[in-house]
Amino acid sequence: MKGFAMLKIGKVGWIDTERPSAGPYDAIVRPLAVAPCTSDIHTVWEGALGDRKNMILGHEAVGVIEEIGSEVKDFKPGDKVIVPAITPDWRSMEAQDGMPMHSNGMLSGWKFSNFKSGVFAECFHVNDADMNLALLPKGMPLEQAVMLSDMATTGIQGAEMANIKTGSTVAVIGIGPVGLMAVAGASILGAGRLIAVGSRKVTVDLALEYGASETIDYRKGGVVEQILEKTNGKGVDSVIIAGGNENTISDAVKIVKPGGTVSNVNYFGTGDILPIPRIEWGSGMSHKDIRGGLTTGGRLRMERMADLCTYGRIKPEKMVTHVFEGFDKMEEALMLMKEKPRDLIKPVVLL
Ligand code: NDP
Ligand code: ZN
Repeated sequence: MKGFAMLKIGKVGWIDTERPSAGPYDAIVRPLAVAPCTSDIHTVWEGALGDRKNMILGHEAVGVIEEIGSEVKDFKPGDKVIVPAITPDWRSMEAQDGMPMHSNGMLSGWKFSNFKSGVFAECFHVNDADMNLALLPKGMPLEQAVMLSDMATTGIQGAEMANIKTGSTVAVIGIGPVGLMAVAGASILGAGRLIAVGSRKVTVDLALEYGASETIDYRKGGVVEQILEKTNGKGVDSVIIAGGNENTISDAVKIVKPGGTVSNVNYFGTGDILPIPRIEWGSGMSHKDIRGGLTTGGRLRMERMADLCTYGRIKPEKMVTHVFEGFDKMEEALMLMKEKPRDLIKPVVLL
């Protein structure tokens, strides 16, 4: 079986590997649409997961089931399914404790292109199919569905963790596809004033369409100064971080009000320590909550994301700026994600 892989840090290419097989609760899925993620870029070019050799990349997919294990009840070969980026071990203590994404170890619900082969392959293995796959709703376009695996669930989780009160003021730092979905999520959850931070027209326009009340450009001045100026020095109730660098945590603490929440879904790939500014954190007594999380995976989450689309609450397909066709376009799509041209939000490869 062919797959598009990280050969070593900084190098990608095609590999030939053994076709996976399904255990009793598992499924083998052939991808119909996949999308490269910024996390794939961190993995290959920043070595964020360490040196992985010949690891098939990709964790965002919609596909068709080719094979199921003997104990799979709700799916059959031929079913089209949304595959979440995070496929927890639901029979784990962490899952029982409400932390499926950390099942059997911190971040270990993230399996594709991490602990096992990813989805940029002729087929891939899904653990616990009944608990991790969601049927593709009839008529749902593939470009829309593949945005649910990771982008919608992650961005919306950023909003969910931000403790948004009805009418409260929210800032979203970083409006790539994850941040854009955070804007959409914050809007659904009742944000009043919603300030989006980005620099590119294509993302700024979509942020406004998704519910941002205004935007600021971090390249035209400090985020802290611009947000404090807009809010008469008071700051915001919630900050969602979906982009930036390690100093963004500092910025977020500086612009959130006492009692407010900083919710991070960004992936910090460098630095041993993330800085928290002492004074603005009230020397430890500010009641400024700092939270961060890997997105929830699993079937129910995907079904809920799909309902958000079906009932017109989110339109994630609008983030798809580049569509490719065929396996041989995988590399081009991934490189586009690496280079991030100004008109790119998210590429999709249809197979
Ligand atoms: P993008 O690179 O597409 O978007 C990043 C955004 O951050 C852009 O809007 C960019 O602005 C903005 N930005 C860059 N530098 C700064 C800065 N110094 N200050 C403020 N804003 C800045 O990323 P994605 O949306 O694809 O992903 C966002 C993050 O989420 C990544 O780190 C990714 O790895 C992570 N992630 C986390 C997951 C989770 O489960 N927690 C799952 C999936 C992804 P502009 O382009 O306008 O210049
Ligand atoms: Zn991802």
